[in-house]
Amino acid sequence: MPPRTRLDGIVIRQQAIAEADVILSLVSADEGRADVLARGARKSSKRFAGGIALFSEISAVIEQGRGHLPTLVESSLHAAFLHMASSYGQLTLASYVVELAACASQPSHADPALYAWLRASLTLVETVSDAHLRAPRLAIEMGFLQALGVCPDLQACSQCGQDTAAGGTWQDADDGLVCTRCLHANPETLPPSLVRALVLWTLAPAEPPVDPLPPSAALRATEKRVAVLLGHVVPQTLRSAVALRDLLRFEA
Ligand SMILES: [Zn+2]
Repeated sequence: MPPRTRLDGIVIRQQAIAEADVILSLVSADEGRADVLARGARKSSKRFAGGIALFSEISAVIEQGRGHLPTLVESSLHAAFLHMASSYGQLTLASYVVELAACASQPSHADPALYAWLRASLTLVETVSDAHLRAPRLAIEMGFLQALGVCPDLQACSQCGQDTAAGGTWQDADDGLVCTRCLHANPETLPPSLVRALVLWTLAPAEPPVDPLPPSAALRATEKRVAVLLGHVVPQTLRSAVALRDLLRFEA
């Protein structure tokens, strides 16, 4: 009998192939991304009754075939992060999370930080309302950049090294903040509350409660800088990112 192994991970993609089969992409903390073949998954919902749904955390038993993708033998559900009653905004945000995870994860490459971010982000998505997606999106993006190790230190001024607790201006995405001692406050200067939120989201990805962020020049500037940093690691345009932008256009 071919060797069987267990894989605990979150389903980040489902691709239908052949008549009834599905290729699942899983991200796990210990093994990075893994694609597995779920034979007959579309023929019978009982085939993998334990759950192979998108956004769910499962424990999979996998059989290594010869020259093919490993085959899913059985699956049990740990946690389903979204459900039938999830809103369009939640589904869009969750799709964004798994698309980011797909870009950053690599086969056979353990990445506990990325996995912790993925899990925390999907947990956060369950709590958001469609009327306030801006702050959760930013929390998810900041945690993602931090998990990848490409987020500048926002706690210290990039010019004098002193703390930025009193606020700061984010002029250059890669350099981080310039404190109010080094640069006079202007309309784009991040207030202390926004600096605090951004720093928190890098310390504990998507964990703290996310209050709505009032629209301001500082918030728009922040979103632009974060977009620049994301562009370094995710150069392509993600479908879910476009859908999310459309939703946010109507947010006050
Ligand atoms: Zn300074």
